[in-house]
Parts: sequence; C-alpha cells; structure tokens
Amino acid sequence: MDFLNKLFSGFSNDGTPSLLFHGAAGTVTGSMHLLRAGESVLALDCGLFQGRRAEAVERNKTFPIDPKRIDALLLSHAHIDHSGNIPQLVRKGFNGRVYCTPATGDLCEIMLADSAHIQEEDAEYWNRKRAKTPAEHIRPLYKVEDAHAAMKHFQQMPINQPFEAAEGVSVTFVEAGHILGSACVLVELHGEDTIRILYTGDMGRFNMPILRDPAEPLPEVDYLITECTYADRKHHNPTDMKERLVHVIQETVARGGKIVIPSFSVGRTQNVVHYLVRAIHEGLIEPLPIFVDSPLSTHATEVFQKHPECYDAEAREFWKNAGGGDLFGNHGLVTYVTEVAESKALNARNDSHVIVASSGMCEAGRILHHLKNTIWDEKNTICVVGFMAQHTLGRRIVERRKELKIFGRMYPLMARVEVMNGFSAHADQDDFIRLLSPIAPKLRGAFVVHGEGPQPAAMERILRDAGCQNVHAPNPGNTFTLDV
Ligand SMILES: [Zn+2]
Repeated sequence: MDFLNKLFSGFSNDGTPSLLFHGAAGTVTGSMHLLRAGESVLALDCGLFQGRRAEAVERNKTFPIDPKRIDALLLSHAHIDHSGNIPQLVRKGFNGRVYCTPATGDLCEIMLADSAHIQEEDAEYWNRKRAKTPAEHIRPLYKVEDAHAAMKHFQQMPINQPFEAAEGVSVTFVEAGHILGSACVLVELHGEDTIRILYTGDMGRFNMPILRDPAEPLPEVDYLITECTYADRKHHNPTDMKERLVHVIQETVARGGKIVIPSFSVGRTQNVVHYLVRAIHEGLIEPLPIFVDSPLSTHATEVFQKHPECYDAEAREFWKNAGGGDLFGNHGLVTYVTEVAESKALNARNDSHVIVASSGMCEAGRILHHLKNTIWDEKNTICVVGFMAQHTLGRRIVERRKELKIFGRMYPLMARVEVMNGFSAHADQDDFIRLLSPIAPKLRGAFVVHGEGPQPAAMERILRDAGCQNVHAPNPGNTFTLDV
C-alpha cells in the first residue's frame, strides 16, 4: 500500500480515488492513464509511443507502476497509439483482463500482430544494416508471440452494457463514433457516494460513413478525461468526400489515367472503398477495377464485415439491400490483394483503375511501388485522404514537390495531387462543442489529454466557455485526487 500511496501522491488514506497521467499527456501518442479506486488500479488504454527510436524504446518499456499491480485495463479502441503497448504490459507481468468492445478485440487481434511484425522487422533491419558491433544489436519491443499471448487477456463486452471491472467499479462502453468498435469509457466508482468518470478515448465525428455517430448526449459525469487532437481545427464535412472522389475518378478516367490512394489500413481504407462502392451502386461512376492492395487492409475489412452491430442506419440499410450486403465490394466490385505477385502484376495494367494501398504516409509498403509507377505521368491522380506528418514522402506529395525520391531514385511529380481533408475520424472543434457543452456545467473537474501545441488550450477554452472552470492539462506523472 505504501508503494501505491507514494505513486499516487494525491492519494489520501481515507480511500479517495486518484488519477495518474502517464502517456499522451502533452503528446498525442502512447495513451495510458491510471485510476486508483480503493485497493484496485485500473489502466485506461495502453498505447505505443511513436517517435524517435531511442526515446520510443525507453518510453514504451517504462510503466509508471509494476504491471503486476494493475488489476484491469479498459481499452477505448484498437488504434495502436491506444492499444499497441499491451503486449509489452503483458510480457512485464500484467495478469488482469483487457476489457473492450467485440469489434475492438477483433481489430486488436490483427493490429497487434501486425505491430509486432513491424517491431521484429525493424530490429532485424537495424541489427543487419546499422549496428556496427553485436553490442549495438537491439531486440524488438515485442514479438508476434507476445501479441498472441496478450490476446488471451482480452474480454469483449458489448457497448452500453455495464459490467464490474474491479470490486466496486462498474464500467460501461459508450459509442465514440471514431473507428469500428471505438468507445468512450464510463467508470462508476461505488462508495458512500458514487463518482462517475468519462474517458473519451478518441472522439469521433458526426455523419461519418458506416459508423454510428458519437453518443448524444454523453452521460453526465463528475470528471472528464478528454482528448483534444483537433480542438483547434474544423474539418470538411465527411459526406462531401464522396462527391470529391466521384469527381476525381470521372476526370482521371476521362484522361485515361489511374488513381492511387495511399491509405491507412483500418478505418480510412474501408471508408474510401465504401464511398466508391456506393458511387457505383448509385450510378455516379461507371464500374472500374478497384484494388485494395494490403494484407492488413484486407483482414481489417473482414473484421468490419463481421461487426454489423457497429453500423449506422444507412450502412445497415445498404448492407441488407444492396448486392446482398456488398458494403465493401466483396462481390466483385473490389479486388482484395494479399499476395505480392498479384500486387506486382498491377504495375502492368494500362487501363483506368483505382489502387488503395498502405502505408498511409507513403513511408513503406506496397504504396511505394504504385507511386513509382504513377507519379511521373500527368494522366494519373494521387488522392491524399489522410494526415501526412512532416518529413514523410506523403507530406512531400501534398506539398507538390517537383521531384520525389522513391527507392533511392528521383522521379518527376507530374500526376495530379488531390488532397481531401474530410476523411478525418477525429472530432473537430464544432463536434467537441456539440458533445461536451451539455455535460460541462456539472463537471467537478476535467483533464485534457492527447494533444500538443495549441490543442490543449483550445479544449480548455471550449470547456470553460461551456461552464467548467476546473480544467487541467496534465503532464506525465501528475496525479489528482477525485473527491465527491
Ligand atoms: Zn484513434
């Protein structure tokens, strides 16, 4: 107990619950927060910190508390910056359950294995190419077998159904509308007085394709832990993106070109493909060959198909009526490519077609081969549907540089570049105002996480304007006592 008391310095011996912020406090990756309630410690998310190698290795290997002392993990959604350090947590002794929604559990199964695979390849590359002596060799953060071992701890719980996660702690997953299976986590601590806490995970948007909107109204709570990634921005409307896609395809086909879309495998790819399939069903574009070139995207799409309980009314209707549930074009409109030989064969095609390939920021993977074959011809179009970080090939494409280096060779950028910002799966300023304003006046305190630069201050303004004055933007290691 002394150890826990020291760790949660805000904790008093009368059993007052406390929060400790660890990851994604002042940053946007490596989400992890700890909640102490009586004798129990619960973790909210356990994400991978992504950044420079040495710092990432150190941060991902260090937990604020011995993982054996954590009783349960409440997982908001499957994105790697929220789930990707679970195999490490388990490897270091966590022996409790990982509670999440069914779709999150199924997505984690493929995403954690994929993440482990990347860690292994990365370590192998470093040891072969960079390390000068065996002493400089590194080990992968975790391996595929660790990802499989972690999955044994997962327990899937339906959305909107309270369950007991620890003694005196009930938890309910509430619709977040961010990616398939994503949830806000409502935690209720039962004691003399009940304390209610809502952790947003990543908040989604209204009118996204396929997914239900975020829960409205959100439950009234005493304390809020909210992300703020785009609290200072406004996105384009997602429904406009279908029209934009249709327009780009019509123009490119008229020029006899092809369309290449770099896309993240989980969420973005399915949204893009669904819009294309809908546009064909609605007669807005003529059917043309569409390829999804990525094993991870293919497997993620299978998970999407397995979970119609996550769909909104429109997607359900389409799923029931059109082409026997042809939501992602699996009945002939879209070809899912997993084999390398099949992927290479796409390079020889001369017709107008669409290729949706990973990785999202064009730094690795099959997309590089397709870009190499596409960018030098003005007939073609590169469609950018996701965020491109600085210093990535994707960002250089967005900036329309004259020449781009791919596999060590320079290629002229002659293809058209279309940038579509409306596909973002994150709530923007208007979404946050709409979702959080109704619950702000009754909050006893709010904690702003998962943001950097001007974002936390923008969220603080939103909450204060809506009537919550006790707002904090915690740093890693900060603790807070939650009293009633
Ligand atoms: Zn996310």
